[in-house]
Amino acid sequence: MSSEKKSVLILGGGLAGLTAAKRLTDKGFQVKLLEKREIFGGKVSSWKDDEGDWIESGTHCFFGAYTVLYDLMKEIKTDHAVLWKKHQLTYTLDGGGRFTFNTWDLPSPLHLLPAIAKNGYFTLGEMAAFSKSLIPLALKKDKYPPTQDHLTFAEWAEQKKFGKRLMEKMFRPMALALKFIPPEEISAKIILDVTETFYRLPDSSCMGFLKGAPQEYIHQPLLDYSASKGAVFKNRTAVEELLFDGSEIKGVQLRNGEILNADYYLCALPIHNLNRVVPENLKTYDRFFGGLDNLDAVPVISVQIWYDREIASDDNVLFSPDGVIPVYANLARTTPDYRTLRGEPFSGKTRFEFCVAPARNLMGLSKEEIIRQVDLSVRNCYPQSSIGARILKATLVKIPHSVYAPIPFMEQYRPTQKTPVHNLFLAGGFSQQLYYDSMGGAVMSANLAVDGIVKQENLKNG
Ligand SMILES: Cc1cc2nc3c(=O)[nH]c(=O)nc-3n(C[C@H](O)[C@H](O)[C@H](O)COP(=O)(O)OP(=O)(O)OC[C@H]3O[C@@H](n4cnc5c(N)ncnc54)[C@H](O)[C@@H]3O)c2cc1C
Repeated sequence: MSSEKKSVLILGGGLAGLTAAKRLTDKGFQVKLLEKREIFGGKVSSWKDDEGDWIESGTHCFFGAYTVLYDLMKEIKTDHAVLWKKHQLTYTLDGGGRFTFNTWDLPSPLHLLPAIAKNGYFTLGEMAAFSKSLIPLALKKDKYPPTQDHLTFAEWAEQKKFGKRLMEKMFRPMALALKFIPPEEISAKIILDVTETFYRLPDSSCMGFLKGAPQEYIHQPLLDYSASKGAVFKNRTAVEELLFDGSEIKGVQLRNGEILNADYYLCALPIHNLNRVVPENLKTYDRFFGGLDNLDAVPVISVQIWYDREIASDDNVLFSPDGVIPVYANLARTTPDYRTLRGEPFSGKTRFEFCVAPARNLMGLSKEEIIRQVDLSVRNCYPQSSIGARILKATLVKIPHSVYAPIPFMEQYRPTQKTPVHNLFLAGGFSQQLYYDSMGGAVMSANLAVDGIVKQENLKNG
């Protein structure tokens, strides 16, 4: 790069924006990042409530597959904070039943043998029918899922006829946990991609939890690192619009009327916010931008409930096909720093965090009603251990627009990080990369956007 530092304005301080800020600062760019909220972290943000307890946007599981995320955490020296859990998936059922998919420490695909043969719920016949449906995946590997983006997962399953129980009890909570939409809405490509990765890479389905708040182990260390190298972070600074002159981005108009300029612009906004800041003349300039309007975001609700006793002793993620809690965990087990209630030690009891989905029909309900439905789901799954249990505290976060909705035919509209405008780049979970809208996806999208800016700069300098 030339001796004069080139400037980059990053819009959005979620994981993608913060990762990009670090990577660009490391490469010698002058970075300024604008975030509209008080806190950084976007969909992985966490903050302390008035009583001193951490609240999160939602439960975040760390999949083994996200190597780009762990590389980043190593660089900021916080990779030790991911606590890996036993490699198994446990499903809890109405009436108190449960089943577990275990894995063995063997090369792929042998690692899945106990999940197929010894899950204790699905019969060998059901698992054999399911395995048969995956033959195209086994033969064509990662080339197969993209050919199925025209179907919902429910339509794909209907064609393969692998049985209602597998769909209802295993795949419904899986779809809801992954993208907060049911099998009747999610593209078959997404579930098949995830299945292919889990099948091919034994450690990819292993899950970890952060030792405590993402704010302490990811966002603040990233901010501190980049700020110490000269990056500037502005919170409570909302971007109103990108200013496009017909050939390049000339500046960014803030909501307070101010205009900021830079050599490069990197939008790391959620899709619904990106669509608001892309001006009409950019949308009509190239269908790359016009197509973004087809992508939309999904509502989801996050609930925490503290109970006065231990209802579930699992130190791992839990799934449930019944009720409104497709994925949840007892944070008093999984997350050591969260063993608190109103700032005081809280061990040997339950601090559940639930992802409540599908949320579309629940968004308009009161906090009390949503907590009531979540509590009912808990009592149905734990009819014995919940007898007499009292709720000590409950919190709720509604997110009207969370991850982008990966419904059929949307892959064609997911943008690359490089855009047709030479000084504009995109990052964010919705943009094209391996991991969809996830923490791994946000980091990978930022890496790709930064590679694009560096390449562009090198090209300019010959
Ligand atoms: C409840 C829930 C649970 C999840 N669970 C998991 C999980 O278990 N594992 C996993 O890997 N992923 C999970 N995810 C997904 C993961 O959180 C996201 O994919 C990832 O955080 C996206 O990061 P991002 O930087 O692309 O976007 P965001 O986090 O959305 O960041 C965008 C930022 O832009 C800011 N912004 C918006 N508009 C403007 C504007 N006009 N001006 C300036 N700033 C603006 C926003 O405030 C935000 O901070 C979950 C998400 C949710 C909501």
